[in-house]
Amino acid sequence: MPSLPNDRVKMPEQDPNVRNKNFSEVALGYNPEAAIAEAKRCLNCKNAKCVSGCPVNVPIPEFIHKIAGGDFKEAYETLFTQNALPAICGRVCPQENQCEGQCIKGIKGEAVAIGRLERFAADFTMNDPALNRSIPQKPPAKPTGPKVAIVGSGPAGLTCAGELARKGYDVTIFEALHEPGGVLMYGIPEFRLPKALVKKEIAKLNNLGVAIIPNVIIGKSITIDELLADGFKAVFIGSGAGLPKFMGIPGENLNGVYSANEFLTRSNLMKAYDQESPTPIFVGKNVAVIGGGNVAMDAARTAKRLGAEKSYIIYRRGEAELPARKEESHHAKEEGIIFKFLSYPTAIIGENGWVSGLECIDMALGPPDHSGRRSPIAKEGSEHLLAMDTVIVAIGQSPNPLIRQSTPGIATQKWGGIIVHEDTMATDKTGVYAGGDAVSGAATVISAMGAGKKAAAAIEQYLS
Ligand SMILES: Cc1cc2nc3c(=O)[nH]c(=O)nc-3n(C[C@H](O)[C@H](O)[C@H](O)COP(=O)(O)OP(=O)(O)OC[C@H]3O[C@@H](n4cnc5c(N)ncnc54)[C@H](O)[C@@H]3O)c2cc1C
Repeated sequence: MPSLPNDRVKMPEQDPNVRNKNFSEVALGYNPEAAIAEAKRCLNCKNAKCVSGCPVNVPIPEFIHKIAGGDFKEAYETLFTQNALPAICGRVCPQENQCEGQCIKGIKGEAVAIGRLERFAADFTMNDPALNRSIPQKPPAKPTGPKVAIVGSGPAGLTCAGELARKGYDVTIFEALHEPGGVLMYGIPEFRLPKALVKKEIAKLNNLGVAIIPNVIIGKSITIDELLADGFKAVFIGSGAGLPKFMGIPGENLNGVYSANEFLTRSNLMKAYDQESPTPIFVGKNVAVIGGGNVAMDAARTAKRLGAEKSYIIYRRGEAELPARKEESHHAKEEGIIFKFLSYPTAIIGENGWVSGLECIDMALGPPDHSGRRSPIAKEGSEHLLAMDTVIVAIGQSPNPLIRQSTPGIATQKWGGIIVHEDTMATDKTGVYAGGDAVSGAATVISAMGAGKKAAAAIEQYLS
């Protein structure tokens, strides 16, 4: 319960020294009493700025008002009108920069915990079989509209598919991996986003009539032109940004060096932490994760849970510049992750083909660069060696070039992002739309969903 009227209701969490040895969820969620207390903090503003802060325009005051009145299922139904994945967004959205960043309550105190309330309404309804059964609005018995193909089953593809299926379009998602969900399944760890929950959210789309075909690589198994010739009247590309970047420093080819993408996929999707899993994962005593975003935090926290004695974040700027959500870096610190700020790797050192150390140089912060952040400058002569067995590179991802290479008529940025018309998400190729990380580069779940939604509206207009 809040100690001051302006304080938000605390989120119960697993003890840091217990949770850093298991993969169960860190945040345990509000109970009904806590959710009602938090919901009652909402001022129900007439001109609700929180709604405009949300890329999918969830009717925030309405759903919170329903929680305050104890109508949890109605709260969920209100959420579901605009957001097909509320249990996911309630957990991983950067609310502090979006809806909660606009909350009037936040001016003099703490913003209403909109994300936690969203999570509560979704969990409460989905965990009650009787309530859950009645949730997705029934689609037409058989889709009657034209066929639409979706490339990729991450949040962008799932959202675009859900929007179109609700309108009666005959939607098929083609997914390269064996499990749908994109980063939600292979990237974000179980302790932040339980996979059973992602599967439940995806099952709701199946109920809406969306077909998901796994193990199909568009551009290899079949091309977009072949899909169009095969009767699909429009295609949405939501293929994400799954191509990891490396630093280009000596030693990146040693055993014990991973991209964060590979490391997290082995752990999350292939369940490498489970002794029964046929996919191995090597984690040494000392693990260095290079980078400062959510991906880096996830990799360092996963390494700790997999048995690393010391798991480091090596970041070239200072703590104030960390791009990760504050909540994530705070949780990482609580779990014993060691942060080395203003440190830049110059070489990975090896012995017998395996990583044995990481050479770093100290940095200082100079004037702001084009991103507005102060740029790191190396301090000459400050090179030093850290003993490491594993190095995980988490400095960003870009879109895979396969779609561009296999689809004539699609233009891309130099860094690989697909070029679209911003108001419709249409590419230059007639009937082909794109959105999410494939267009923006690595961004957020909710921005990918917003793009999927925008594209669905444009596809509907195009096809009618
Ligand atoms: C480790 C990690 C942690 C993150 N944490 C957060 C967070 O806390 N909050 C947040 O908001 N965002 C977070 N993000 C970012 C967020 O997950 C992404 O911005 C979002 O998932 C992008 O959605 P998408 O649908 O565009 O792409 P993705 O989720 O990448 O999905 C793309 C899908 O397309 C499939 N695909 C690719 N190419 C093909 C092809 N040729 N044929 C068929 N299928 C294909 C892929 O297998 C994948 O399933 C995180 C990202 C990572 C990697």
